[in-house]
Amino acid sequence: MNLLTVEDMAASYGASQALFEVKLSLAPGEVLALMGRNGMGKTTTVRAICRLINSTGRLELAGRNLHKLPSHRVARLGLGLVPEGRRCFNNLTVRENLVAAARPGDWTLRKVGALFPWLLERPGQRADSLSGGEQQMLAIGRALMTNPRLLILDEATEGLAPLIRQEIWSAIARLKRESGMAIIVIDKSLHELGGISDHAVILERGKTVWQGRMAELSPEISHKYLGV
Ligand code: ATP
Repeated sequence: MNLLTVEDMAASYGASQALFEVKLSLAPGEVLALMGRNGMGKTTTVRAICRLINSTGRLELAGRNLHKLPSHRVARLGLGLVPEGRRCFNNLTVRENLVAAARPGDWTLRKVGALFPWLLERPGQRADSLSGGEQQMLAIGRALMTNPRLLILDEATEGLAPLIRQEIWSAIARLKRESGMAIIVIDKSLHELGGISDHAVILERGKTVWQGRMAELSPEISHKYLGV
């Protein structure tokens, strides 16, 4: 059974419609790359899945209709979001950021510390004094502390230095290998996405225009829809 099912999803910002016909699905343990040029609706799709904005169409997590639920209930059902721009709690410490969101499960401070050791070496450092890369790792750690079944990373490595990006891609690969967690990743690096994703969905102007196995994503399709 699918963990996440999205069909005919439409959503608007006021009078301006951003999503028209988004379709995607994901099985437990799978990694899905959500792709598309700038402004094609990736972040809006993520917001709609997390119930941060209203949408229409089918939206189910483990067979449960999410449309009636507020975002905090969706989070409790096992959806962990690393939002675009990270949004750590700036005035809280590293440790406080991690425990603020914690829910019971396998993911504890120790386990998150095994993924990003510096988080446990500098627990008292305030989030606003961290580098962008450190904030992104903290945001991933914070999402993991909610013990999600599905982790969504919106712009996983955007704007980060190459070494940090590598560290984040390694962490995502390790999550895939060791945790069995389903993951949706948005990122500009087709190369890195290709190495880690089982499936891909491409959006164009708020519509799913291609979906399939990552291995089937041909240079022609990438050129047509992604411009690379
Ligand atoms: P990017 O890669 O640039 O982040 P995206 O694929 O994530 O792009 P969205 O941010 O989902 O695209 O934007 C989809 C459409 O919705 C765009 O036309 C955008 O201008 C519009 N949009 C996004 N956020 C808002 C908002 N808060 N209010 C009004 N329109 C918005």
